[in-house]
Amino acid sequence: MEIIETMKNISSIENCYGCGVCGAVCGKRIIKLRLNADGFYEPFITDQNICSHCGLCVECCAYVHQERSGNQNEVKSYAAWSKQKEIRQKCSSGGIAYELGKQLLEQGYKACGVRYNVQMQRAEHFIATTPQEYIQSIGSKYIQSYTLEAFQAINRKERYFVTGTPCQIDSFRRYIKKFSVEDHFVLLDFFCHGVPSIHVWTKYLKEIEKKTGKIQYVSWRNKTTEGFDVQNGGEDQKRIKWTESYRICIQGERKGYIAEKVQKDHFYTLFLSNICLGRACYEKCKYKYLSSAADIRIGDLWGKTYQENEEGVNALLTFTAKGQEIVAGLKNCVIDSQTLAVVTEGQLKKNLSTPLLRRKAMVLLKQEGTDLKKVIYLANKWNQIKAIKYYVLHPFLMWCRIKRKMKQ
Ligand SMILES: Cc1cc2nc3c(=O)[nH]c(=O)nc-3n(C[C@H](O)[C@H](O)[C@H](O)COP(=O)(O)OP(=O)(O)OC[C@H]3O[C@@H](n4cnc5c(N)ncnc54)[C@H](O)[C@@H]3O)c2cc1C
Ligand code: SF4
Ligand code: SF4
Ligand code: SF4
Repeated sequence: MEIIETMKNISSIENCYGCGVCGAVCGKRIIKLRLNADGFYEPFITDQNICSHCGLCVECCAYVHQERSGNQNEVKSYAAWSKQKEIRQKCSSGGIAYELGKQLLEQGYKACGVRYNVQMQRAEHFIATTPQEYIQSIGSKYIQSYTLEAFQAINRKERYFVTGTPCQIDSFRRYIKKFSVEDHFVLLDFFCHGVPSIHVWTKYLKEIEKKTGKIQYVSWRNKTTEGFDVQNGGEDQKRIKWTESYRICIQGERKGYIAEKVQKDHFYTLFLSNICLGRACYEKCKYKYLSSAADIRIGDLWGKTYQENEEGVNALLTFTAKGQEIVAGLKNCVIDSQTLAVVTEGQLKKNLSTPLLRRKAMVLLKQEGTDLKKVIYLANKWNQIKAIKYYVLHPFLMWCRIKRKMKQ
């Protein structure tokens, strides 16, 4: 018997995707999300005595099922961007996520996306009912989002555009399939290499707050010299190249902070080193490359074909007839049909392997008062190990193999 058949509810699940869909589906409202010791969301049951063992939470959980829930038809691939300069300027890539949301909102959908909550210092899903409200979703927040309240607030009888990481979207598809309401939803995910531990973010904010005072605004991707608040415009500022837009821009009570170079920024050094991603991101992710349960997938199109384009280009894929129809009807956007090779250049095709030094890094991150520099030291060590493997070990093994073949 499969383990999931013996599971009465999600109480024994650990290190999962933390998507919160189990909490949305539970009619008894006894599933909550909390951060585990490593700093990733995990569900727990507040009162086992109330559980009716209906099994819905397990049924809708993408983590415990091997197969994905999507019904992919033909995959179509595009390079795309918004024709509206100010949208493209504010968004992480080409602004397609915002344009899709805006258009669907105008057609009577609600939009469930991710905003940054400065009070709670977290990324969280929220529901927008107007394009103006949906502006908060603009920009990638490179931390795991808290989904529970927004997912619980979704009324299955209404129409929604829901965006999220591929694992969140896979569980969400299970949920709407279970209640036979797939027709009411349009689902969008993105190419995703992983989410880092929230401990990195919390420690980073402590460092920055010493310089800026209490933080009032954060943007992870920034295409201007000064940074700007997406709510308040910023169009008159000098623009910088999209390819250099990995710049965290923080506004504090006393002053602002912009990390000029990715390599000099503690958060980005750790995020991009991939040393402290969720355990599921290395071991249990089933969403790389073309694997998705969404109707539409977006990402950054960094490849050679558009390398001269410095304003931001989205990789855009459609997986379903619904996704295809929505993209075909998208107004105010450039949608260039391109081969998969062009659109997916540079994207991961399989999961990252768990770094040897991850456990050590997690121990340091969990310790109160440990400086991020100590974790960065480990990340740099890990980069050196990877370089030795790539430039020394691989060529050596290749040479041994060729020699052996020549002898045969
Ligand atoms: C954790 C993370 C990892 C990523 N990894 C890759 C990658 O490996 N390769 C790649 O090409 N692209 C990756 N992306 C996506 C990329 O950064 C851009 O978000 C994407 O290209 C969309 O650009 P846009 O201009 O259309 O969107 P924007 O208009 O800027 O909108 C961003 C969209 O992402 C959603 N979003 C923002 N933060 C989160 C979050 N934390 N969790 C869930 N949804 C969120 C918002 O709701 C919004 O719909 C990643 C994004 C995140 C958040
Ligand atoms: S539904 Fe999501 S949060 Fe709940 S157990 Fe499964 S992966 Fe974890
Ligand atoms: S089995 Fe049913 S009642 Fe029990 S936690 Fe899961 S969804 Fe809720
Ligand atoms: S890498 Fe996979 S498991 Fe991790 S957040 Fe992204 S989709 Fe989810």
